[in-house]
Amino acid sequence: MEIFDSHTHLNDEPFRGKEEFYLDRARKLCVTKAAVAGQDSEFNERAMDLSQRFDNLYAIVGYCPDVAKDFDQKAQDKLIEQLQMDKSVALGEIGLDYYWDESPHDVQQKVFAQQLEIAHDLKMPVNIHTRDAFEDTYRILKDSKVGEYGGIIHNFNGDPEWLKKFLDLGMMVSFSGVVSFTKATDVHASAKVVPWDRMLIETDAPYLTPKPYRGKQNETGYVRYVAQAIADLRDTSVQEVAEHTYENAMKIYGIK
Ligand SMILES: [Zn+2]
Repeated sequence: MEIFDSHTHLNDEPFRGKEEFYLDRARKLCVTKAAVAGQDSEFNERAMDLSQRFDNLYAIVGYCPDVAKDFDQKAQDKLIEQLQMDKSVALGEIGLDYYWDESPHDVQQKVFAQQLEIAHDLKMPVNIHTRDAFEDTYRILKDSKVGEYGGIIHNFNGDPEWLKKFLDLGMMVSFSGVVSFTKATDVHASAKVVPWDRMLIETDAPYLTPKPYRGKQNETGYVRYVAQAIADLRDTSVQEVAEHTYENAMKIYGIK
């Protein structure tokens, strides 16, 4: 069995200098590949660096809503250069965050749309972060051509109605440790009905630790417990969840 963590932050502080250790632990849980997500110039650089150092890591680079106000021409040129490098597999995480609200909404929306266009020009998929902003996220994605090269709603936390809307745009959704939480009933409902060919799994480590380690620091290997939670909800085996989500990640990220 092989498991693909579609969105992790091995480029974040807790893992620095200990990447090999955590990748080793992941391998013992059958987690053999991961996409490391950037969010600003520093994290993008580190995601790129890790993808060059490790065969089984891939880079996602982009400007998240928190730093949308920093997305100037220089940042854009650099991003395009990084996206064209070997092992860059998606533009992300990009989107809207009205919870932390670190950039004005109009700036977030503009930079989100701009990056969607860059992804389309480069024929690349996108990795979407959306928090307290489904309406605007959906509207902007609908106006883009996201279906052509694919898009993922990362850490999907919506109910089946929202799920359907994003699936209708030709997108995939990625479930995090939240799907293992007892009270996340909307997410459970979505995880039960999403078609096999549209589902990914992720850790978003160091955040969103799944049961049975909830409350502790998350790490890439724990995506196995996300797979387990979905398997329980769908009354199937962890192998089946692993197989589909691995194949979907390889496909959307264009990995041979
Ligand atoms: Zn993330």
